[in-house]
Amino acid sequence: MARQIMHRGKRSWWNGTVTTLCGLTLPGNTTEGVWFPALSGHKPCPACETVHNRQRR
Ligand SMILES: [Zn+2]
Repeated sequence: MARQIMHRGKRSWWNGTVTTLCGLTLPGNTTEGVWFPALSGHKPCPACETVHNRQRR
């Protein structure tokens, strides 16, 4: 439980699939550690952060 990673991405609400900025596609019901709100003590995914910072320009 200490190695949860916070990815950034979008969830397709019609099928629940999550596409992260670092290129992962995950089932929306996974508890593998995909959380976009910074909940508590989740490590941000560096790849996602890089893409996110680029998109923010
Ligand atoms: Zn990521």
